[in-house]
Amino acid sequence: AIEVRELHKSFGQNEVLKGIDFHVDNGQVVCVIGPSGSGKSTLLRCVNRLEEPTSGRILVEGIDITDPETDLDAVRSRIGMVFQQFNLFPHMSVLKNLTIAQKRVKKRSTAEAVEIARRNLAKVGLANREDAYPAHLSGGQQQRVAIARALSMDPDMMLFDEPTSALDPELVGDVLAVMKDLASEGMTMMVVTHEMGFAREVGDKLVFMDGGVIVEEGDPREVLGNPQHERTQAFLSKVL
Ligand code: ATP
Ligand code: MG
Repeated sequence: AIEVRELHKSFGQNEVLKGIDFHVDNGQVVCVIGPSGSGKSTLLRCVNRLEEPTSGRILVEGIDITDPETDLDAVRSRIGMVFQQFNLFPHMSVLKNLTIAQKRVKKRSTAEAVEIARRNLAKVGLANREDAYPAHLSGGQQQRVAIARALSMDPDMMLFDEPTSALDPELVGDVLAVMKDLASEGMTMMVVTHEMGFAREVGDKLVFMDGGVIVEEGDPREVLGNPQHERTQAFLSKVL
């Protein structure tokens, strides 16, 4: 589970997160929407400490990851992250992309890492592409490799930052289908997305952010169908 309390983040004078409180229970899928610049990526990046919060607390499985004593590598190895730009290693085959961190961080043998990698490639529908290089795959395939790579570290939870925004429209569905499967297996997920259909169908909770605060949150069908706040209504009228 993830628990965020009174989270503030400033870049210099620019206060980007202005007191965020929310939680993601185990097995829940929480989708985050909001206009550009509202702080969605910064929030995700604080949750795995790619950004250092200015103040506030973030508890991951009850462990305060903002505590300077906390072992950040240990925390990060439990939180998988998938970005809009897939961030695969271009000079490595798909299989190598999936095994390298397992061996370095998890200290797995090559045989074990390969076995786990193959299992996860099969899961994302790419069992036959382990020898390919990223440049030879479509964007949707690359993103599924990135998901398989994150899963190979056995994360307790997964963070997705606009995982389908860089994809051609016809490739979006395959990636969303993989994410939906993960959700149905009980993975705890936080998903920044513009895919309102995914949020409605798969999300347990929908969070609308604007200007560094959570303006509205609730059941996705409720928030999308009957937004309570004027800012939510204005945003949804533009994107739906
Ligand atoms: P988008 O939908 O465009 O991805 P977002 O909601 O993810 O937007 P963030 O990327 O979190 O928004 O950015 C929020 C604000 O923080 C923006 O004003 C941005 O310029 C600023 N910001 C983000 N990262 C940094 C950084 N490393 N240094 C300085 N300012 C930053
Ligand atoms: Mg962003």
